Parts: sequence; structure tokens; C-alpha cells
Amino acid sequence: MRIYEESRGKYRTTRKSAGCDFCDKEVIRDQQVKQLEGEYWRVFACKYPYMDGNLMIMPKRHIKDVDKFTSAEWEEFGEVLIKTKHLLGHLFKTKSFNVMLQIGPNSGGSIRHLHWMIIPRPKKKNLSGWNIYNNFYFVTLSYKELLKKIDNHYKTKKS
Ligand SMILES: [Zn+2]
Repeated sequence: MRIYEESRGKYRTTRKSAGCDFCDKEVIRDQQVKQLEGEYWRVFACKYPYMDGNLMIMPKRHIKDVDKFTSAEWEEFGEVLIKTKHLLGHLFKTKSFNVMLQIGPNSGGSIRHLHWMIIPRPKKKNLSGWNIYNNFYFVTLSYKELLKKIDNHYKTKKS
């Protein structure tokens, strides 16, 4: 088993520009999960995952707080969240998830463009509080491998 030791801190210091990564066309092309996308929402494979299967749901508009969404965006968010949850549940064989959102400059998020983290929690990796508080995670799947896994899923589904 390969173990990734990705440093999320590195992400903060190696970013290319002061602009928003999630509005950057190159980043979008590199990380997006087209099959889950809606009219108002994108889904990305997280480049520096907290755990295997870490996806992110974010608005296409550059929005920093939840009170800026239209009711059409909220409605579609529900659909995209459910689709994303179903896919991850299928791929990682679980009914358990973490859905996380950080709002505002003191919340700890590294990118202000609002994004929900969606993380599947299979039983064997159901870490205890001790693990979480000590930043002790094993990530075995890179974001590219996750994107490939998702692509394969949709390819085999169609045939
Ligand atoms: Zn943005």
C-alpha cells in the first residue's frame, strides 16, 4: 500500500498567483468531475485530500459566504450533494460521510471561494477522535487516481 504524506501547508506557500485557484481555468480543467457538475456548481477532486475520496462542491460563481446564494443555486446544491454522496458511497462502499464547510478568514480554509468538503468514511478507516486531533491520516489515493476511478465508474456504467 502506498501512503501519501501530502502537506496541506505546502499548498498555501506554493500557490502560483494571488488570484482564486477555484476560478482558474487550468485548475478547473485539472480537478473537475464533469459528470457531477450542475448549472451553478462544480465538483473537484481535492488535490490535497484529508482522506481518500475527498471531493469538493463549490459554486461556479466566486462566492465567499452562504448568504450570497440564490434559491436556484441552493436547490441545485441539494441535487449535486446527493449525486456526489451517492457516487462516493458506491465507490468507497459506505453510508457514512463528513460534509464540511469553512466560512470566513478565521475558519482555517486555505481558499476563500466557498467549498464543501465531502469525504466518504468507510468503516475500516473510521478514525477515532485521537487520530483526528493528531492529524494522523493515511491518504492512499491521489486526486488524479480518484478522478480516474470516477471516470472508470461512468465508463463501465454506460456500457
Ligand atoms: Zn473563486
